[in-house]
Amino acid sequence: MSYQPPVREHLFLLRDVLEIETYSNLPGFSDAPMDLVEQILDESARFCAEVLAPLNAVGDKHGCVWNPDGSVTTPPGFKEAYRQFVDGGWPALGAVPEFGGQGLPAVVNLACNEMSSASNMAFSMYPGLTHGAYSAILAGGSDAQKQLYLPKLATGEWGGTMNLTEPQCGTDLGLIRTKATPAGDGTYRISGQKIWISSGEHDLAPNIIHLVLARIEGAPAGVRGISLFIVPKFLPDAEGHPGARNSVKCLGLEEKMGIHGNATCVMSHEEATGWLVGEENRGLAIMFVMMNEARLGVGMQGLAQGEAAYQAAAQFARDRLQGRALTGPKNPDGPADSILVHPDVRRMLMDARAVLEGGRAFLFWSALHGDLAHRHPDEAVRQKGEDYMALLTPVLKGFLTERGFAIASDAMQVHGGSGFTEHFPASQYLRDSRIAMIYEGANGIQALDLVGRKLGAHGGRAVMTFLAEIDAFVAENGADAALKPFVDGLAGAKAQLLEGTLWLMQNGPANPDNAGAGSMEYLRLFGLTGLAYMWALMARAAGAKVAAGDTDPFYAAKLTVGRYFLQRVLPDTGAALAKLKMGAEAVMALPADAF
Ligand SMILES: Cc1cc2nc3c(=O)[nH]c(=O)nc-3n(C[C@H](O)[C@H](O)[C@H](O)COP(=O)(O)OP(=O)(O)OC[C@H]3O[C@@H](n4cnc5c(N)ncnc54)[C@H](O)[C@@H]3O)c2cc1C
Repeated sequence: MSYQPPVREHLFLLRDVLEIETYSNLPGFSDAPMDLVEQILDESARFCAEVLAPLNAVGDKHGCVWNPDGSVTTPPGFKEAYRQFVDGGWPALGAVPEFGGQGLPAVVNLACNEMSSASNMAFSMYPGLTHGAYSAILAGGSDAQKQLYLPKLATGEWGGTMNLTEPQCGTDLGLIRTKATPAGDGTYRISGQKIWISSGEHDLAPNIIHLVLARIEGAPAGVRGISLFIVPKFLPDAEGHPGARNSVKCLGLEEKMGIHGNATCVMSHEEATGWLVGEENRGLAIMFVMMNEARLGVGMQGLAQGEAAYQAAAQFARDRLQGRALTGPKNPDGPADSILVHPDVRRMLMDARAVLEGGRAFLFWSALHGDLAHRHPDEAVRQKGEDYMALLTPVLKGFLTERGFAIASDAMQVHGGSGFTEHFPASQYLRDSRIAMIYEGANGIQALDLVGRKLGAHGGRAVMTFLAEIDAFVAENGADAALKPFVDGLAGAKAQLLEGTLWLMQNGPANPDNAGAGSMEYLRLFGLTGLAYMWALMARAAGAKVAAGDTDPFYAAKLTVGRYFLQRVLPDTGAALAKLKMGAEAVMALPADAF
């Protein structure tokens, strides 16, 4: 049995925890009653399990092939699957109706994206990047650009990419050298080399729209002199069809550790024709729209790979017979017990469950706030949604990718030696999940973004609102005896997060290295507190079902995993806070030449 999409989990979150039906007065939500959402998720699950998941190992083994004419052939089956994906309308689910999308809530779209990413991460990156390009043009493009490109990107008819990275510039985009020269006819000539461009060239779509960061001649140095351009592979003709070939080409593919089915390209722009998006020198702001969306998507990738790896490990553990339970045989008629009897194997599987279920809730809860930021009529709700999205995007990206990789590593451990071989999927999950901690801003950069930018924004409004929301939950639910362990755990984590926040505010400005040295621990503390809040919300929803006499074992299991989270995962907040408060002294003590 391969990966099974966790639709039951999705429905529990959407219906019982987030109660999305209470937003049925909002655009998009009004078109998505729960019975329709259930149908969509079931259909997406079927497609992912039957079409995408079987191609995951194929993509890993075959990889993409670069041809001497600069074209790229994707792994066998990808092209047909992509056609079905587009014909099924899946790329358009979350896009706006004005440009050919279906306008469903982002939180519903996210559930589908989790399933496709868990089924086949490399494949799902093609539509993922396309959606990012769509979002950037939607945010910053002219009306004509929107009319021309958005319907084709929204539906997945054309592909999209983001071209930021160059050999000398990854994290530090101020070092970009790609040049843009005005051609005198409203277009620009784009010249330069971009590296590691995901989905940069492929055979899935008849055109690829590259969004390229470049520097217009004479622009200020650094990030204030960067502009954003649309550079199509084929220049659209008067009817908007792919016309003349543009001078942008793929020089080769990267050999890499994982996601072999996704083409990671060296792209050469040789006086390619490009169109400015938005204003000159303001490109980074628009690209950040795309990057923020992509960062949440990468957090989701961490979760999705963790889920797929956990499922493989749980299945292996059920089947593998080794040793006897410490408390006496559980399979006396067999040669040995299944390794599920061993507490250390249980520990790894339960760690995974506790983090995945809490992490998924945190991701969905945040995505719902993103929906409210765009769709709610009340300005205060919209502002809170925006604040939360800005604050939590680096937390979700950093926390879920780090934990997703750790889960994939534990999943390999559960497999024993079999996991290290290529006969089982554990190796691919571990390899594929690793990149998520690096791209879209390495996790260290997410932590700096959280501490350096997001915490202090608007006088700390977002973090203070988040902490106050937790206080209100604790006050409201403190008297509920069944929920008490969850409320107490949450209150304790929140107190530590507040302490860490105040410590950073007091010690960061005097010595910025204090903030830098503690930033990752702070991100972890934040992530764990977010999960504690989610577990309290889930325990309340599941507890209400049990109290009402619902005997579905799903709810009892939810409460059991929640208790494990409180006892065995949440205590990590103490270590994170202690390390954070140690400051930078020991971190920076060795002189640079001692390394
Ligand atoms: C498979 C793959 C796909 C990719 N896809 C794309 C794509 O589609 N489009 C695209 O434009 N790029 C893409 N990238 C590039 C990716 O986004 C970069 O690799 C990433 O942003 C990090 O940049 P870098 O590799 O140059 O690392 P560097 O910037 O050299 O950083 C190296 C290390 O130093 C740390 N570091 C750097 N600066 C700081 C700082 N100021 N403070 C603290 N720590 C710091 C980083 O966190 C990192 O750990 C891809 C890369 C890969 C491997």
